Amino acid sequence: MSDADTLFERIIAREIPAEIVHETETTLAFRDINPQAKTHVLVVPKTRYRTVGELAAADPQLLADVLTTAEEVARLEGLTGSGYRVVFNTGDDAGQTVYHVHAHVLGGEQLGLFGR
Ligand code: 5GP
Repeated sequence: MSDADTLFERIIAREIPAEIVHETETTLAFRDINPQAKTHVLVVPKTRYRTVGELAAADPQLLADVLTTAEEVARLEGLTGSGYRVVFNTGDDAGQTVYHVHAHVLGGEQLGLFGR
């Protein structure tokens, strides 16, 4: 797997435009370019780890920051009453395409079931 900068480092560096919805000292939240729900926001740590497992092992506080930002995004998007989903795809079978860990925050409508 390449260690070259991923797309998300370039979004964090503002080299690629994104619709940013929230930012903290350690995290950035921006809308997914190909939304899978009415609301679909990605939350990334500003420091790169490839997967949520790597992040959890290396820096649990930063993982907590990502989840806190996900909750804040849900609040800002008006999802906390109706509900929302936080997903970390890990690896190829799960469809992970960008190897800079990111939480998908999905909501704004009734979501489908997990699986295929
Ligand atoms: P993954 O498949 O790795 O779990 O999620 C990667 C996500 O990044 C996908 O949902 C995809 O739509 C989103 N994405 C890919 N390219 C861009 C982009 O240039 N800008 C934004 N905002 N999202 C992107």
